[in-house]
Amino acid sequence: MDLSYIINELGEEREQYFNAVAPPLIQSSNFAFKKVEELRSRFRDEYSGYIYSRGLNPTVDILRKKLAALDEAEDCLVFNSGSSAIFASVMANVNAGDHIVSVEKPYTWAQKLFNNLLPRFGVTTTYVDGTQVENFEKAILPDTKLIYLESPNSWSYELQDLAAVAALAKSKGIVTICDNSYCTPLYQKPITLGIDIALQSATKYIGGHSDVIGGILCGSRQMMSKIFKGEYMTSGNGISPFNAWLLIRGLRTLPLRLQKVAENTKKVFAFLESHPKVESVIFPFDERFPQYPLAKQQMRDAFGLLSFYLDVKKVEDIEKFCENLRCILMAISWGGYESLIVPACAFVPPETYNISKRSHRMLRLYVGQEEPDYIIGDLAQALNNM
Ligand SMILES: *Cc1c(COP(=O)(O)O)cnc(C)c1O
Repeated sequence: MDLSYIINELGEEREQYFNAVAPPLIQSSNFAFKKVEELRSRFRDEYSGYIYSRGLNPTVDILRKKLAALDEAEDCLVFNSGSSAIFASVMANVNAGDHIVSVEKPYTWAQKLFNNLLPRFGVTTTYVDGTQVENFEKAILPDTKLIYLESPNSWSYELQDLAAVAALAKSKGIVTICDNSYCTPLYQKPITLGIDIALQSATKYIGGHSDVIGGILCGSRQMMSKIFKGEYMTSGNGISPFNAWLLIRGLRTLPLRLQKVAENTKKVFAFLESHPKVESVIFPFDERFPQYPLAKQQMRDAFGLLSFYLDVKKVEDIEKFCENLRCILMAISWGGYESLIVPACAFVPPETYNISKRSHRMLRLYVGQEEPDYIIGDLAQALNNM
C-alpha cells in the first residue's frame, strides 16, 4: 500500500464529517442504540463496533487502520503506553508455569515484568545473547511459549536476525514479539519477516513531539482480537481518543521527521567519531559495527540514537560534559524535535560507580530535528569545556 495513501486517506471518511480535512476527535465515552437487538449483539462482541470507549472508538480506529497498514499487519491495538502494550502482549501469551526466552537487556519495564511480576505466577524467563540465533534454540524448553525480541536495542543496538528467529519459533509453535520502537515500521517491518507481534512505543517517533505517551501492537486479526477481549478490555489500558488524535497528527509528518533525524544523525556521528575526546561511537550503520551486514539486510536505515564513550578519567568529567550542554536537553525518552542526552552514570549508584567499566562511561544521545550545526556546535563547546 502506498505510504501517502495510508497516511492521508486510509481509515478516514471525510464525507461523513463535513469534509473536514483533519480527522474528527470523537471524545465520547459511550455510543447509543435504537434497537435492543443491536445492543444485545454488540454486547456479545465488543470488537465488532462501538458501544463504550474503553473498547473501540472511531478516532482510535482511524489510527489503528493506518498503523496496521504501515506494519503490513491485519490488525492493530493502541495502548496508553508502550509499557502497557508490552504487558498485554506478554500476558496474553503465557499461562502459569510457562517459559519465556527473551533477548538480554530488553526495555527496562519488560525486564521488570519478566523478573518481578511473572515469577509470581510461575512464569520464568531465560535471557540470551540475541546476536546468535543458536542461543535462542539452546534456551528453548518444552514449556517455552514466547520469544521476546527488541531489535535494535535502544542503548547498545544489538540486533537479532528477525527472520531466522521467527522461523525457529514457528517450527516449535512459539509466539514471537519484537519491540520495533527504534526503527518504526517505516524502516523495519517485523511482521513481513515472520514475527507474530510488532510492538512500538508510540511515545517516541509516532507521537514525535514529546507530548503523548502511547503504545502499539500489530499482528493477526486473531491475535489482536484475543488481546482485545482479554488484557485490553480488562486492564482498560487503551489509548484515549485525544491522544490517538495526536498520534494520527504525528503520522502526517513521520516520514519527513525521520528523514531529517537520519540526515542529522549521520552528521553528528561523523563529528563525534572524529573528536579526540570521544573514545568510540556505537551506531548500527557504521561499517565497523559487529552486526553491520544484518543491520543493512533487515533495516532500511539507522538513525536517531547514538551511544558513545568519552575518554575521561573520572565521572565528574562526564557530569560536567552533560551539564555544559546548552541546547541538548538532559532527558530520557526520544523521538521528538529536541536532541536529548542521557549518561549511563545516572543509573549507577555513586558507591558502585566504576569509571573503568565501559558500560558506566556510556552516554546515549538522541539526535533530534534541529539544524545539524546547532547540535554539533553544542556538543563541541561541551566537549571542549569539559
Ligand atoms: C520507551 C520505550 C518503551 C516503553 O514505552 P512507553 O511509551 O514509555 O511506555 C518500550 N520499548 C522501548 C525500546 C522504548 O524505548
